[in-house]
Amino acid sequence: MTKKSIAIIGGGISGLSAGIFARQKFGDTINLTIYEKDNRLGGTIGITRENGYIADWGPNGFLDREPLTLEFVKQIGLYDKLYPSNNRSEKRYIYRNGKLWEISANPIKFMKSGLLSFSGRLRIGYEYFVSKKNNNLDETIYNFASRRIGREAAEILIDPMVSGIFGGDAENLSLEACFPIMEKMEQEYGGLIKAMIQKKKENRKSGQKGGPAGPAGRLTSFRGGLYTMIERLEEILHDNIRQNVEVEKITRNEDGRFQIICKADKIEYDYIILAVPSYISGGLLNEVSPDAAGLLMEIPYSNLAVVCQGYKISDIGQSLDGFGFLAPHNQNLEILGSIWTSVIFPEQAPDGYALFRTMLGGAKNNDIIELGNERLAELTHNQLSQILGIKEKPSFEKVIIWRKAIPQYIIGHSERLGRIEANLRQHGNIYLAGNAYTGIGLNDAIKRSSMIVSAILSGWV
Ligand SMILES: Cc1cc2nc3c(=O)[nH]c(=O)nc-3n(C[C@H](O)[C@H](O)[C@H](O)COP(=O)(O)OP(=O)(O)OC[C@H]3O[C@@H](n4cnc5c(N)ncnc54)[C@H](O)[C@@H]3O)c2cc1C
Repeated sequence: MTKKSIAIIGGGISGLSAGIFARQKFGDTINLTIYEKDNRLGGTIGITRENGYIADWGPNGFLDREPLTLEFVKQIGLYDKLYPSNNRSEKRYIYRNGKLWEISANPIKFMKSGLLSFSGRLRIGYEYFVSKKNNNLDETIYNFASRRIGREAAEILIDPMVSGIFGGDAENLSLEACFPIMEKMEQEYGGLIKAMIQKKKENRKSGQKGGPAGPAGRLTSFRGGLYTMIERLEEILHDNIRQNVEVEKITRNEDGRFQIICKADKIEYDYIILAVPSYISGGLLNEVSPDAAGLLMEIPYSNLAVVCQGYKISDIGQSLDGFGFLAPHNQNLEILGSIWTSVIFPEQAPDGYALFRTMLGGAKNNDIIELGNERLAELTHNQLSQILGIKEKPSFEKVIIWRKAIPQYIIGHSERLGRIEANLRQHGNIYLAGNAYTGIGLNDAIKRSSMIVSAILSGWV
């Protein structure tokens, strides 16, 4: 009997994890090929290791709250290399009116802090009395936040959180698609404060930990940086990977099989997993399904720049005792925020030095990446110096520009996704992996790949 075959397009974490799950579920009963257009694997996971610095180019970790990810890490033999963030990085800051304010998780401390005006703080408390939305129309994150906790909190707390996580604009992103749990807190419990109180009671009874949105999780990387995981995956999947091979087109035969068309060859497969950004999938699917292709092209992406800079600690005018800070758009900084990497993961900078990873761009400032590496680095250094009192130039610098970095789940995202999936189902064994659909983080990408392989297994004949 001839073996069935699976092609995975894309050698980022979605494609590589799909490869691991496929090998685990099907063993030698399939032919598996992973296509990657670049000469390196990892996609948005990349790294520079230089002079004692370990600088992640894109993601710097995942939250350890997802059992599937931890299981995956065990499966690839990296459990003992896990590197959880340092306890010293628990504090988080917001930049407002020229200074950094700690955001306290303790409600009494938060209410005493001057981060928000007195009326802004009172307005948050009033959330308890705000009635729930009485329609099921998709709502922006900003509308939800300003309706429930007031405009000031929406602008100072929620806007920077949305640019920190999604590189996005809270006034365009869909609450339902980005933070479904928040929507549920309102609909099921009547509001955020009510949900927190109720959840606390339930947890006390059951002895469980975690907030109303589930266990928060701790940012976790690997010894040697996040790229350690990609290096391990490359070792395991080596024989299945075709690197430096760009897939240019996919067509479907009359017998339902697919052809992968690259510059040098055409190969037939029974199953296709597209683990590339949605606009690439759209281009590849133009012939198989023009309707799905059109909808995939509609998912917008934001640009981001990551500026990594290392300084002597003695040249920094402020003690670094937290995760870093975020800057609301109305504070007129170009930077979106800065992560204090060497506090979070001390091995990532040499002794006596600090490493910052600062983000610029996002949906509200997409064009800033056009400044180029040098000017982005200078701008970032100037703004960090002003906030943190840095006296000297950085001794380490790496700038990474990500064009179309993060998919934006704008209003109508869930409905669009429903139409894409319904459309693709008509065309047989073709699946969309990646972070453009049901969650933008690493945990979400791994989970989606696992679900796709399970779906293939369940239809296996
Ligand atoms: C700056 C930044 C910071 C982030 N921070 C975090 C974080 O801290 N935590 C977190 O959980 N998530 C974070 N994310 C999100 C996370 O990086 C993504 O969820 C994840 O890496 C997506 O992986 P992927 O494999 O789906 O896509 P990608 O990483 O985009 O991989 C797609 C791959 O497909 C290849 N490819 C494209 N076209 C073709 C083709 N035609 N033929 C063959 N190959 C092709 C590409 O070269 C690439 O290697 C961040 C993202 C960015 C950009």
